[in-house]
Amino acid sequence: MSNVIKLLPDHVANQIAAGEVIQRPASVVKELMENAIDADAKKIQLILKDSGKMLIRVVDNGKGMNPEDSRLAFERHATSKISRGEDLFFIKTMGFRGEALASIAAVARVEMISKMPGAELGTRILIEGSEVTLQEPHATVEGTSIAVKNLFFNVPARRKFLKSDKVELRRIIQEFERIALGFPEISFSLFNDDKELMRLPAATLKDRILAVFGKNLNDKLFPFNEETDYLKLTGFGVKPQFCKKSRKEQFFFLNKRFFKSGYLHHAVKGAYEGLLQPDEQPSYFIYLEMDPTLVDVNVHPTKQEIKFQDERMMYNMLRVTVRHGLGKHQLTPTLDFDSDRGHQILSSGSPQRDSDQTGGRTSSFSPKQPEKRDSDNWAEIFEGVRKEMSTSNLPEQFTIDGKSQERPYGKYFQLFNRFIAVQTKMGLLIIDQRKAHQNMLYRHLLKSLESDSGNTQTLLFPQSMEIPASEVPILDELLPTLQKTGLQIEHFGGNTFVIHGTPAIWTEDIEPDEMLSHLLENYRLSGDVKNLNKRISASMARSFGITERKTLSEEELKTLIEQALNEEPESDALHLNSSVVVNAEGMMKLFKK
Ligand code: ADP
Ligand code: MG
Repeated sequence: MSNVIKLLPDHVANQIAAGEVIQRPASVVKELMENAIDADAKKIQLILKDSGKMLIRVVDNGKGMNPEDSRLAFERHATSKISRGEDLFFIKTMGFRGEALASIAAVARVEMISKMPGAELGTRILIEGSEVTLQEPHATVEGTSIAVKNLFFNVPARRKFLKSDKVELRRIIQEFERIALGFPEISFSLFNDDKELMRLPAATLKDRILAVFGKNLNDKLFPFNEETDYLKLTGFGVKPQFCKKSRKEQFFFLNKRFFKSGYLHHAVKGAYEGLLQPDEQPSYFIYLEMDPTLVDVNVHPTKQEIKFQDERMMYNMLRVTVRHGLGKHQLTPTLDFDSDRGHQILSSGSPQRDSDQTGGRTSSFSPKQPEKRDSDNWAEIFEGVRKEMSTSNLPEQFTIDGKSQERPYGKYFQLFNRFIAVQTKMGLLIIDQRKAHQNMLYRHLLKSLESDSGNTQTLLFPQSMEIPASEVPILDELLPTLQKTGLQIEHFGGNTFVIHGTPAIWTEDIEPDEMLSHLLENYRLSGDVKNLNKRISASMARSFGITERKTLSEEELKTLIEQALNEEPESDALHLNSSVVVNAEGMMKLFKK
């Protein structure tokens, strides 16, 4: 009987190993960029074609390789970074398994050109599915350029498994950002199909963060730092009033390497306790530096999870340091006045109440008051209704008089510069004036969007704005739709967009970048493309609506009441529902209390 056990040929073994390390273009990007960093490059370029499916080229100005190493680099377990088992405990470099290049070469066509500083000539080497097809001396600059072409050309199942260009590009940008944020002292650039998507000159940490996520983040960050014998912790958090619902700007780095940790995230969340709405997430950029022997980075194949020896200590230190940063910058007292919180009707009280509640508390760590429950709001509103009724000349009975039947409502008045109380057949209608206004704008925007008839108000000085690079493809996709509303916006290049004109309904106190960032946020959160027009209109309307408290003219009051009475049921789903009716029964209950 012949042997049934066979040794796998090398190229097959490599392909299997590749499956673990190289899952998609973004994995190649990560490995190649990390290698460039390990080679002490000060400048790294990433060049893509077709979102990496056709070509991924990484060019660095690092220490290069001699001809022999150029070839060895593609052997499995070939690494210059460790040579003994014990070395595993002293790892400072990004890669160390010596698997990445061998894996990449097993599933793509690779061309590498490399030269060491001082050498006269460099080396050019071609490899296809693990076979070296050419190696020759080559005149070139110092450093290394590796081009990975036709990824998975010999593994059709994998190739088919790849997502759309947009998705793969987003993943690449994500890897690129994680690396760029870890190494602000290195300059990076990113091109896709000859378009420059990012250019990041060497910078301080804060400037790097701003270069990646846009300058408008500048005023939203607060710094913190702490140092003990074991651990150095520095970073920035996003001030609570600017935190959002999605979790995306959450970055941990250990010795400059990005990692994920649900446990440490929990610590940061704890630091923000009482400062965020239940559905909001803190954003942060946290850099830990410690002796590498106290961490095991070898637990995850793509090295994104890390095991710390003393996790509890880290947890506590993180929580206290971030909390302290929040306190030092006195971010807590302003929170209650953030006007764009929650879209829920009747969700906050009158100004007098707000100051009563925070009065006397000066500690910057004092937690934000929990949201008042609806019933408290009701009590407050009815207190106001009672007062108004006793001073205004309303009829004794709260009914609609026969003469004004052509109008479906009776007496009305404004409450706290914020609500409108109206007598209707159904009962007392309480309107949130801001919501009603938003709802009106929503209909207007939706109409112009659907009929492509939005009027534009041209800006005297076009406004430019930067957005996070990962959102660029999303905004690009939305541009034609936005233009129909009258918003004239153009992709200027990189992550810069220029606004030339705004919808005619635009009010001055709207920051275009805030409006767009809400829009992108909403878009990303729900992710579905159904009802796109409606969702865009709703999101813009929410940004455009009048400020929360405003004295309204008679004309404005009437317009908003008409609006509220004609609201469509779908308003609710779009968070634009503006009114509630209190019928006789409800009134009885409330007044009895
Ligand atoms: P690892 O990074 O785990 O050592 P790789 O397969 O990624 O394994 O790389 C193998 C070896 O090739 C590295 O140890 C390094 O010596 C060399 N190498 C790879 N990329 C570069 C580069 N851009 N510049 C210089 N040397 C490199
Ligand atoms: Mg490597």
